[in-house]
Amino acid sequence: MEKVFRLFFLLIFLALSAWILWRVPENGWGSLVWLLGTIVMMAIRAPFEATNRKNEIEESRQEVVENVLLAGVFLGAFIIPMAYLASGWPASLRYALPSWATAIGVVLLVLGLWLFWRSHADLGRNWSVTLEIREGHHLVTGGVYSRVRHPMYSAIYLIYGAQALLIHHWIAGLGGIVSFWLIYVIRVPREEAMMRARFGDEYEEYCQSTGRVIPQLFS
Ligand code: SAH
Repeated sequence: MEKVFRLFFLLIFLALSAWILWRVPENGWGSLVWLLGTIVMMAIRAPFEATNRKNEIEESRQEVVENVLLAGVFLGAFIIPMAYLASGWPASLRYALPSWATAIGVVLLVLGLWLFWRSHADLGRNWSVTLEIREGHHLVTGGVYSRVRHPMYSAIYLIYGAQALLIHHWIAGLGGIVSFWLIYVIRVPREEAMMRARFGDEYEEYCQSTGRVIPQLFS
């Protein structure tokens, strides 16, 4: 069933993408970059999702509120931008940006995608979409985790920030960063409490030398 659903999702996504490509002259070149970035983001995550599905979960702190907020991110960062770019509606909520602002969006997106890839690679089997401790979980403090505790969230801020510079629309452009900020403020204290409960002093020490999403430069 899940496979059928995935295939169905992929077919709709491909069809809509082809239609959005056709509409690039209307939506601006930033929309093409956004679409490519979204594809790269899915491609980075897919192999980790496949491997980590086999993880034995020891502890899960998944809650209804968080699931609702996750669905909100899916809407704001994916469904709404796709629907807007395909339909051009509602046109009254468009805003204009100079080309250099769109170009900054490209730089943020590339940086964000690099960090998204590196944080998945460094976290490896310890990664999960929701808050979980898996069997054999260990605290990752190296790679991009050496200066920031939540580099994957930093990456998502960069990518969804770029969305607002690439798609010039109050809802479709800002949907990603606003919906992610909502889940971020609720999730991070809970995630850190879970890590503290599991890793104790080791995590406490790690917190001393790292920033949450912005690197601590002088530690
Ligand atoms: N907040 C991190 C990880 C996001 S994935 C980031 O932004 O990069 C969420 C899962 O990662 C959580 O369920 C938690 O179990 C795990 N996790 C978070 N930080 C970790 C770390 N330093 N080492 C190992 N696992 C970690």
